[in-house]
Amino acid sequence: MDEPLVLEAALAFVFGLLIGSFLNVCIYRWPLDLSVVSPRSQCPQCEAPIAWFDNIPLLSYLLLRGRCRGCGKGISYRYPLVELLTAGFFAWIVWQLGVNWGAVKYCILVAMLIALMFTDLEERILPDEFTLGGTLIGLAFSPFILVPDITAHAVLGLLGLKFPDRGMSVAESLFGVILPAGTLWLGGYLFEKFRGKEGLGLGDVKMMAMVGAFLGVRGALLTLIAGSVAGSLIGMIYIKLTKQDMGSYQLPFGTFLAAAAIFAAMAGPKVIQWYSALL
Ligand SMILES: [Zn+2]
Repeated sequence: MDEPLVLEAALAFVFGLLIGSFLNVCIYRWPLDLSVVSPRSQCPQCEAPIAWFDNIPLLSYLLLRGRCRGCGKGISYRYPLVELLTAGFFAWIVWQLGVNWGAVKYCILVAMLIALMFTDLEERILPDEFTLGGTLIGLAFSPFILVPDITAHAVLGLLGLKFPDRGMSVAESLFGVILPAGTLWLGGYLFEKFRGKEGLGLGDVKMMAMVGAFLGVRGALLTLIAGSVAGSLIGMIYIKLTKQDMGSYQLPFGTFLAAAAIFAAMAGPKVIQWYSALL
């Protein structure tokens, strides 16, 4: 039995707080097409610049009791929440996998998914920086950290094609980019054709390509199924409770897909195993 990774997980937690703090900047600025580098952070209400000591992840929010030092207006709960979520998942991933490139891959994936959860929830936007940029990052990882899937193995095997492990992993990633996103796009296209209204944004399709690049076809399909079920259930309840207009309410589908993708990345291998055992 290896030593428990307490120190490593604690460091990952602190690092996650910093990354979460940067994600908050991306969540606010990318949907507005602003740079994430300059200007320095400022209060969105009174535009006073935020001093470094008021910009410490989690701690500053607690010390300021969730209010801007300048104008006293409330700071969104999203800031500490994104920092805590990122830190918690980073610590959990390092605890499970140790300190290695595999953990780096899953930390990058989860960080992007957390950001997408909130840009879609707040702005109904899934920025290309995360979806398309993330697809490229997932593909770039695939020769080095093997994609946990068998779809490409099965399909290429039927065609009598066989590549070394790294090549097969790139194939799994490519299949993951194309198949689930393609299925979702086709579903949305048919819905629009027959119902005459837009059922889903292209951002959702691009996000599925990103998830597939990291997790392969099965992980992405698990994401689609879990995200759709959770989205329609919770969406229905929300519409009923808040008496929203069913016709015009736009569900943040990307938020549910992102949450489902985190679930698929963390619990996916176990769920797929359990399901395969049932067959
Ligand atoms: Zn202020």
